[in-house]
Amino acid sequence: MVVTRFAPSPTGYLHIGGLRTALLNYLHARKSGGKFLLRVEDTDRSRHNEEAVKAILDAFEWVGLQSDDEVVRQSERDDIYRKYIDELLESGKAYRCYMTPAELEELREEQKNRGERPRYDGRYRDFNGTPPEGITPVIRIKAPTEGSIFVYDKIKGDIEFRVEDTLDDFIIARADGTPTYNFVVAVDDHLMGVNEVIRGDDHLSNTPKQIVIYEALNFPIPNFYHVPMIHNEQGRKLSKRDGATDVMEYKRLGYFPEALLNFLLRLGWSHGDKEIFSMAEMLELFDPSTISKSASIYSKEKLDWVNSEHLKLKPLEEFSQFGNLEIVALVRDRCNTLLDLEREVNKISEKPVEYDSKSLKKHFKETNQKLLTEFLEEIQSGENLESSFQKVLDSNGVGMAKLAQPIRIALVGTAQSPSVIDVMKILGVDEVIERVEALLKR
Ligand code: GLU
Repeated sequence: MVVTRFAPSPTGYLHIGGLRTALLNYLHARKSGGKFLLRVEDTDRSRHNEEAVKAILDAFEWVGLQSDDEVVRQSERDDIYRKYIDELLESGKAYRCYMTPAELEELREEQKNRGERPRYDGRYRDFNGTPPEGITPVIRIKAPTEGSIFVYDKIKGDIEFRVEDTLDDFIIARADGTPTYNFVVAVDDHLMGVNEVIRGDDHLSNTPKQIVIYEALNFPIPNFYHVPMIHNEQGRKLSKRDGATDVMEYKRLGYFPEALLNFLLRLGWSHGDKEIFSMAEMLELFDPSTISKSASIYSKEKLDWVNSEHLKLKPLEEFSQFGNLEIVALVRDRCNTLLDLEREVNKISEKPVEYDSKSLKKHFKETNQKLLTEFLEEIQSGENLESSFQKVLDSNGVGMAKLAQPIRIALVGTAQSPSVIDVMKILGVDEVIERVEALLKR
């Protein structure tokens, strides 16, 4: 059974790069009848922040990617980590290192002067003398001293990390006893049964270290998929300014969770030239082995377009909060987001509070006023809206816009609106009379 996870560090809100990673894990697990798990990586106590954890969980709730088990919190698992550290100490695969910060600094200097990569020199690896006094040791793992570690990545292919260039006996527990990042990730992934790890390729350099830990603990190594980053339109790593913002910000801006997920899925994965996916289609069609090898580009226009397509596909009943569904049906093709929709619906359902001066200048000249007055008289005399409109055009021998535009201004305050006949029909004759009179009287 496929078991995947998403493992956010609660350093702030959930950003969209993280959400994409979570989505890929979610789809991969769910489509194969496996499990998708969530783990909060909150071991870094100094940055530990309950609010951030809550913000991340809220975002998951909004997008509907639920964990199949209780959310795992690393901050609650100290005893577990300690047990595995003790096991490694007992089996001789890890050892206490009494090097002082000053000694470490000195070693770094020497290595730098020789033009070497700074790395621990293994001086306590086989130490069995009397430990120096007054020093609380750190725990280091015995990493291989030569050869290579291979990461068999399902996206990038086989990647070789030469020990000489990348590894040393790295610390797995600090002097205060707290375990380090790569150690807890490997232990947790194993204990949670995670056998497929999809994550950002900014984590690729951690993978050889995690493999050293897996091997020392005799844990099977999961399959890895390191997903290329999302870039901005200038080809640089996405930053806050480009929209790498809080996932919940997209909610406030009126995007649909499934549209955001659809957009994120298409950043780095495709299925022919299909662009719009429902959740059911994502689950049916997703295949992690076809995740793209290259970075993908974030585009706000694309997101808007994807959202507008989802907006068109939704059953009208989902918009009952806007009151009049006929208006929703009339305007939704002009909208990208729920905020647009709200604005466009209000524009029709509420009387204009002011008139756009450019529209007035262009479409409310003397002729227009005369035509509008005639039109008002027709409808007041009981003639229906559509035939009154046609009658005024015919008797004056003018084109449609001459009358349609001033009516639009009367109805919605500007010369931009959906079909003027449709708008009038929805509003009804009494409301049309009131709005036309109000414009003529101003
Ligand atoms: N906690 C890491 C992050 O937020 C993810 C670790 C992982 O996926 O292995 O970037």
